[in-house]
Amino acid sequence: LAGELGDELGFSVYVVGGFVRDLLMAIPNHDIDLCVEGNGIVFAHALGKRLNASITEHIKFKTAILEYTVETDSGEKILMKIDIATSRLEYYESPGALPNVEHSSIRLDLYRRDFTINAVALELNQTNFGNILDFYGAQRDIKNKIIQPIHSLSFIEDPTRIIRAILFEVRLNFKLSLQTERLINNAIQLGMIKKISGQRIFHGFQLVCEEENTLACLKRMDEFKVLQEIHPILPLTDAKEELILELEKISNAYEMLYQKSKRENWVLYLLALCLGAKYLEVSELLKRLMFSSKATHSFLSMREQCRDMKFKIKAWSEMAFSPQNNKDKNIRYKMSMLADILNPLSVNAMIFVIATEKDADIRKAILYYITKAREEKLSITGKSLIKMGMSPGVEIKTVLKQVLDAKIDGLIKDKQEELNLAES
Ligand code: ATP
Repeated sequence: LAGELGDELGFSVYVVGGFVRDLLMAIPNHDIDLCVEGNGIVFAHALGKRLNASITEHIKFKTAILEYTVETDSGEKILMKIDIATSRLEYYESPGALPNVEHSSIRLDLYRRDFTINAVALELNQTNFGNILDFYGAQRDIKNKIIQPIHSLSFIEDPTRIIRAILFEVRLNFKLSLQTERLINNAIQLGMIKKISGQRIFHGFQLVCEEENTLACLKRMDEFKVLQEIHPILPLTDAKEELILELEKISNAYEMLYQKSKRENWVLYLLALCLGAKYLEVSELLKRLMFSSKATHSFLSMREQCRDMKFKIKAWSEMAFSPQNNKDKNIRYKMSMLADILNPLSVNAMIFVIATEKDADIRKAILYYITKAREEKLSITGKSLIKMGMSPGVEIKTVLKQVLDAKIDGLIKDKQEELNLAES
């Protein structure tokens, strides 16, 4: 369809980059990058109309994004994304800044890309449909499982490529060529990481956190001293690695249990990398990452909250698991009190609290809260109490809370017991 449209409009159209790389490796990819020799915006509108897709356009860069859903034979809905770019000449005014854009041919467009394996295009116009344009050895490097930039100044031009190189190395199970390692070390020694803007560093970090094997990426970043260069509190330690493994275990279990969409993974990884750091040091890091004051406040208070939580939970456990309560080893005992402590936490914070908790009884209790107590609901409502003759107001709220606590603690079970307790 894209090729036909290109023919109609008199534009050459190519699929480029990661999609072609993955196609050559037979890996599924739902993000399609198209490159248009002509006017990408005009093309995007024409294609968007045919696909009934939503369009986001970026006039300055002559790029657009189309998004639409397709339904598979099994009824599963898949979100498809097509990035459309106008074949362009990028030049970098200052390393680390976003590129400026001018017109240029596909060969030059590919030359401006990060790695040989991504600098490959597939023609879509009818006359040459399916023809692969590989000027820089993409197929050779894919076959040899090698990551290398297209030219030796690549990491100086755009140091975020250092993080991308590591990301692809881990994701595809490829190897950085020796020369690539040298170029990366050289760029880092020249202080290029420090020149990357906070937003771009953070974006790179977020991408790493969405990867299947984030820890392996972080280890590699650590080896190249990338973490150190971003901020001295970030380098890995044995304790951080252990914590990350724990976080991943709990987080995956939570996801499988609830089939929730991916949460913001970066929060958990950043909390882990800041393990043991002082408040001021973390604030400094967030400033480097150019967090807004709202985001800074929310991250810092989450960190504090997790720390305070440990003390509160400890106090709770000493009471709940005290020798005089030992005859009642049931962890539901005083669960409602634990619920009150944990209630203000986000799921990420709870996962973090469990991961940092060594006491097996406490972990069990928090997991019980997340999976069961948090879902506990009453059969009676405020309306039922008013019907029973209670006057509307604060009292009803208090009674409902007490009945819910009793249910969470396993003291009552059905609606009749709820009503009896409310009445008493
Ligand atoms: P993914 O499967 O993660 O989407 P991708 O290769 O498609 O992999 P994107 O981040 O979507 O990665 O980028 C699309 C294409 O844009 C890449 O294949 C690459 O050719 C090019 N690209 C992205 N970032 C850079 C960069 N910093 N410098 C040069 N080219 C880049």
